[in-house]
Amino acid sequence: MTSLRMLSILHSPFFILPALVLLLAGCGAAPSPATISPPTALTTVPPAITSAPLPTVRQGLPTAAFPSPTLTATPVLSPALSAVEGEAEGLTPTPRPTSLPTGDIMEPETLILTIVYDNNAYDPRLKTAWGFSCLIEYRGQVILFDTGGDSPTLLTNMATVGIDPSEIERVVLSHIHGDHTDGLSGLLPIAGDGLTVFVPQSFPARFKDAVRTRTHLVEVREPRKIGEEVYTTGEMGMGIIEQSLMVRTDEGLVVITGCAHPGIVEIVRRAKALSGDEVYLVLGGFHLGGKSRREIEGILSEFRRLGVRKVAPCHCTGEQAIRMFRQEYGEDFIQAGAGKVIRVPLSE
Ligand SMILES: [Zn+2]
Ligand SMILES: [Zn+2]
Repeated sequence: MTSLRMLSILHSPFFILPALVLLLAGCGAAPSPATISPPTALTTVPPAITSAPLPTVRQGLPTAAFPSPTLTATPVLSPALSAVEGEAEGLTPTPRPTSLPTGDIMEPETLILTIVYDNNAYDPRLKTAWGFSCLIEYRGQVILFDTGGDSPTLLTNMATVGIDPSEIERVVLSHIHGDHTDGLSGLLPIAGDGLTVFVPQSFPARFKDAVRTRTHLVEVREPRKIGEEVYTTGEMGMGIIEQSLMVRTDEGLVVITGCAHPGIVEIVRRAKALSGDEVYLVLGGFHLGGKSRREIEGILSEFRRLGVRKVAPCHCTGEQAIRMFRQEYGEDFIQAGAGKVIRVPLSE
């Protein structure tokens, strides 16, 4: 338990970042598009936004492209990641060790992942809605990956599980779709002063400018360090650009994806190559809703080939794919959804 797990509900007034309400569309596999709509008006869409990436579904790379001997033969890239760390030193806001709640952390090396927003139910006390957000607590850091599709659900869910939004030091947004970014508008006014938001460099200028008026913004293009043992893959994909998160643990690499538009296998492959680590867990949206059974079987075999030990698919993974991952992974399948807490190493 950290100090941030004891807080009260915050109902701050919402402000409207015009750009935040523009890109509502989700990751096309949304079974219920109505849930994507934020409470704010949609009539203010400025023309500039039309140049933003369209919310159409990009199904990722075809399965046939997955077996890539050249990539799998790529030498371990630990030096590359070290270089990334070096580069990042000048870019990353200096960690604030003095402000960390170290006194409350009993196991500082335990990675705690809490899914605070998902369309799949897990903890019945939490609301479900189309989107994804996951809180990462690790080595005294508090990082939020994606913000879900609306602030009320995000903040209410956080309060329910005892998370204080003001403790969040960094927010990483995977991609521009509203079911991953629209929760940010309500979070910014109540976040701490030092909050830094990491977005893909390709985000619309209006979005980035709107965030800059409120807090620190870091544009991500290449793989880089986000925090201690926490990295981004950098921008990936040809259509909907997306970044995924990598967390290095004693158990191996934990990969967290938003919607995996660039292809879940491509993301895992890149994360593994960048870190040189074995992949312990892949968590998040795998974006396989439109895939056939055969295609999913191909992805499962790629996961096995890449040595992924555990999986926690949720959000846009699709029901059939989730069933197939469960069947394939057995005890190493982790049921994920709103309110699920995963500790690495697993303590249950
Ligand atoms: Zn998406
Ligand atoms: Zn999504």
